[in-house]
Amino acid sequence: MKKHNFYAGPSILPEYTIEKTIEGIKNFAGTGLSVLEVSHRSKEFVDVMKEAQQLFKELLDIPGDYSVLFLQGGASTQFAMVPFNLLNKKSAYLDTGSWSSKAIKEAKGFGETVVVASSKDKAYNYIPKDYQIPEDADYFHITTNNTIAGTEIKEDIDSPVPLVADMSSDIFSRPVDVSKYALIYGGAQKNLGPAGTTFVVIKNDILGNVDRHIPTMLNYQTHIDKGSMFNTPPVLAVFSSLQTLKWLKNNGGVKAAQKRNIEKATILYDEIDRNKLFKAAVPNPEDRSLMNITFVINEEFKEYEQEFLDFTSQYGIIGIKGHRSVGGFRASTYNALPKESVEVLIKAMQDFEKKIIS
Ligand SMILES: *Cc1c(COP(=O)(O)O)cnc(C)c1O
Repeated sequence: MKKHNFYAGPSILPEYTIEKTIEGIKNFAGTGLSVLEVSHRSKEFVDVMKEAQQLFKELLDIPGDYSVLFLQGGASTQFAMVPFNLLNKKSAYLDTGSWSSKAIKEAKGFGETVVVASSKDKAYNYIPKDYQIPEDADYFHITTNNTIAGTEIKEDIDSPVPLVADMSSDIFSRPVDVSKYALIYGGAQKNLGPAGTTFVVIKNDILGNVDRHIPTMLNYQTHIDKGSMFNTPPVLAVFSSLQTLKWLKNNGGVKAAQKRNIEKATILYDEIDRNKLFKAAVPNPEDRSLMNITFVINEEFKEYEQEFLDFTSQYGIIGIKGHRSVGGFRASTYNALPKESVEVLIKAMQDFEKKIIS
């Protein structure tokens, strides 16, 4: 049976990425060797790194004074690396979910950290709108897409201080005005590639303002200076991510991806709003994520929660159980998820409604 993969991460990748990765593992760039066993200093791999950085810049229309890095350690390492490199006196954070709060916890270890607003009071089911960013902060950090709660900041905000964004789960889902950001980071494993690499888009001139010693590997400058090739990069994850970037380009780039993402999310949210069994976890449509669509079963039908999960598995639907910290359901509708999969989920929801309420 065809599988419909709604996992939140690692998550669905384009068929193209999988096929090209298999080819590269067997015979990389005509070398007769696997991409797993060639030197990262070989011309063939250096070309992969350069092309991945170049395509990343092209697809997001990144200005010339920024670098694109492929590091390791996941977005979680960035939670510490950002304040390590940027926090001199004071940092400011918007607390929109568990990932934000983990980032805040790390920043506190490096200096004064102001949480300008938090949606924790309502289980992170909205994006705070009224807040003041302190003008003397070294930077302001946001999480654009809250993978667990299912909220998203869908527009590039204005900040009086350098803006830093965790875009782990919505990078390449829409056009971004990168010039509004000083730094953008994320794990590849949501919308870009396999687990194992962390992308960082960094404005070259934002560094050098902290007094502390920064270990070589945790210093962005090290990686900027060496074109992300200071030490052995995660070769397979970068190679595979490059295939997704090519796929995205062949499919019309981020604007076209955004259009498809809006279409998928709209039909699914419409069904959640219509269906008598379910309700959206995020009440305000403006704050609803286009990537992680969270919903719950209405209180009166609570006993059918597990039955619904079992029911959907008969349709080939995988991965819609909500995050263990919030429960309910979460359908992740990343770039690579075809609209057809969303239609199958909608059909399952309608069939289940008929079964329960008849
Ligand atoms: C998945 C995720 C993370 C954690 O990423 P790791 O690469 O596992 O460290 C951080 N932030 C957001 C928004 C995420 O979705």
